[in-house]
Amino acid sequence: MLSKAFAQNSQFKPFWGFLMMCDVYNRAMFKGKRDHIVLAGEPEIRVAIKRSSRSRRLSLRVSHLDGRVTLTAPNGIAQRALDSFALEKADWIRGHVAKRSVTEQVAFDGHVHIEGISCLISKGSGRSVVRDENTLYVPGSSEVTAAKVQGYLKTLARDRLVAASDFYASQVGRPYGKITLRDTRSRWGSCSHEGHLMYSWRLVMAPADVLNYVAAHEVAHLVEMNHSSAFWAVVEKLMPDYATHRLWLRQNGSSLHRYRFSD
Ligand SMILES: [Zn+2]
Repeated sequence: MLSKAFAQNSQFKPFWGFLMMCDVYNRAMFKGKRDHIVLAGEPEIRVAIKRSSRSRRLSLRVSHLDGRVTLTAPNGIAQRALDSFALEKADWIRGHVAKRSVTEQVAFDGHVHIEGISCLISKGSGRSVVRDENTLYVPGSSEVTAAKVQGYLKTLARDRLVAASDFYASQVGRPYGKITLRDTRSRWGSCSHEGHLMYSWRLVMAPADVLNYVAAHEVAHLVEMNHSSAFWAVVEKLMPDYATHRLWLRQNGSSLHRYRFSD
C-alpha cells in the first residue's frame, strides 16, 4: 500500500533532565501552556497543539480533508519550544495549507490537470469529450460538465493504469488479478494477497510517470508483499528513477484532490 501521510517529524528530544533539576524554571516554562499557536501572516494560521504522553517527538500534520494543522508533542515540552518549532516550519505549513484549502469546481472556463498538463474546459459539440492539446471540449449543458469530465478522466485512467500494470507485470513475470479504480484519499494504490490491484483514478491528473510509478509500486507487491529493501529493489529495477516520482506524489499528491466534480 502506498500511504499519503503528510507528517514531518523532527528528532526533537524533550529535556527531562533539565526540567527535573530546576523546579522553579520548570513552573515558569509551563505557565504559558496553550492549546494552539497562531502563525501571523496572510492568511493567519492556527496550529492546534496536541500533547500526548505517548509521543516521543514533535510531529506536524496538515489534514487532507479540512486543512487543519496539528502539532503533536510530548507532554513535558515547553511552550516556547513548540512556538519556535512552529515558526521554523511555517513555510512547510503554509505550503500544505495552501494546497489543501483551494478547491476547484470543475466547470466551463475552468481548468483541470490531465497527465500533468493544465487543460481549459471548453464547450464542445457532438457526443464525446475530446481533448486537443491544452483544451478539453465537453459537449452538453453546464449541469453535466463535471460528470462528463470525470467520466473522461476515469476512462483515461483505466486505459493508462491497465497499460502500465500490464507492462510492469510482464517485466516481473507475474500476472495480476483484476484492476479496480476508486477515489481514495488514504492511498494511491494497493495490491491484495490475491493479486488484485486498486488505484485512485485521480492519478491520471498527475504527470504520466507519477502514475507509472504507482503501477510499478503495486505490481512490485506481486513479488514482495511488504516494503522491505527487496521490495524497493524490484521497484528500482522496474523504474530506476522512481524516487523522483514518489517525491512528487508526497509533495503534490494532495493537490489532485482539490478538484470537485460534484457538490
Ligand atoms: Zn506499497
